[in-house]
Amino acid sequence: LIIAAIREKDAGERRVALVPVVAERIQKLGCSVALEAGAGLSSYFPDATYKNTSIVEDEKALVGSADIVLAVNPPSPDLVSAMKPGTILISFIYGRNNPELVKALRDHKISCFAMEQIPRISRAQAMDALSSQATLAGYYAALLGSVHMPKILPMMTTAVGSLRAAQVLVMGLGVAGLQALATAGRLGAVTEGYDVRPETKDEAHSLGAKFVDTGVDATGQGGYARELTAEEKAKVKSVLSDHIARSDLIITTAAVPGRKAPRLIDADQIAGMKVGSVIIDMAAEGGGNCEGTKAGEIVQVGPATIVGPVNLPSCLSEQASELYAKNILNLLQQIIKDGKLSLDMTDEVIAKTLVTHDGKITNDAVRAVVE
Ligand code: NAD
Repeated sequence: LIIAAIREKDAGERRVALVPVVAERIQKLGCSVALEAGAGLSSYFPDATYKNTSIVEDEKALVGSADIVLAVNPPSPDLVSAMKPGTILISFIYGRNNPELVKALRDHKISCFAMEQIPRISRAQAMDALSSQATLAGYYAALLGSVHMPKILPMMTTAVGSLRAAQVLVMGLGVAGLQALATAGRLGAVTEGYDVRPETKDEAHSLGAKFVDTGVDATGQGGYARELTAEEKAKVKSVLSDHIARSDLIITTAAVPGRKAPRLIDADQIAGMKVGSVIIDMAAEGGGNCEGTKAGEIVQVGPATIVGPVNLPSCLSEQASELYAKNILNLLQQIIKDGKLSLDMTDEVIAKTLVTHDGKITNDAVRAVVE
């Protein structure tokens, strides 16, 4: 089998789907490895660090000769048309947002594994790329917040008096939020966490943070949150406003699958914040958790600076690529046996992650949007 990784073409994307240590592990599975020239450069893996790997300049020739193609971001439909029927593609796909790509995958009979569809079950944790990338993004968000603040996070005693520790509030305690909370805590901030899933209370406490209890439980399907009702939103607002007003840094990460990011902070609440306070809105790409957030921009709204970062994992491209490539390796180990492809459609991970196979769209939610 030939396994090929392409160079990412999206502006601002620094990651790569294959790193040298994983290329060696793939070779041990009995496969050959090929790489588009320069694919690893912006993750600090020059071509020469990939041992026994064919370096190919022409992207279409590369994918046309491959049995399995690896990518980070959804490739273009044009690139899909250069793949042989029966090729496997492993990448983030976000099929509901990319109908033309899904049609191209279906029509060219590509078997596509969408990394965002890896089920959130214990057995699949080592393949869970959403989590590996969110972990790094959460860490980076805390650091990003600290550099935009006009004050430090820890308490500090100096010859001219003591500086108080900063107050940090993290809203949305999924994978990214918990890592942001942990990182702010390690930097010495006084931390508070908030989520609509009550089980996150113990997780916040285990990180030395307080939990803001609004009395609203919005646990939805599959461990994700559901949307709040208007009544619940009002109840949450009344409790949260005080906590927002006394925070020096707020990191928001709230998401509800398939929906626009929920609004957690409105203009009134921002107006009530301290002068010099900072909000890092990690949901910026999905519309933002905060009124006034602009994706990819830093805006001043009244007393607060609102940062709307996009693609935070790419800022840590070396290790984000390493973790992503290892997630893919763990998936490859499920579908390659003795150097040959073996797709067990009864396996939950394989069945749930495959979006297209053998000329059909195999994911119901994606099919409902595309066909
Ligand atoms: P996510 O990115 O979907 O959302 C981030 C957080 O925002 C979630 O904790 C969610 O509850 C919260 N949220 C949504 N609406 C909110 C609102 N209005 N106010 C406040 N918070 C709100 O989350 P994620 O990191 O992808 O994790 C989603 C779920 O999957 C979690 O239950 C997580 O523990 C679980 N998970 C399980 C595994 C596994 O078992 N292998 C791996 C990773 C994640």
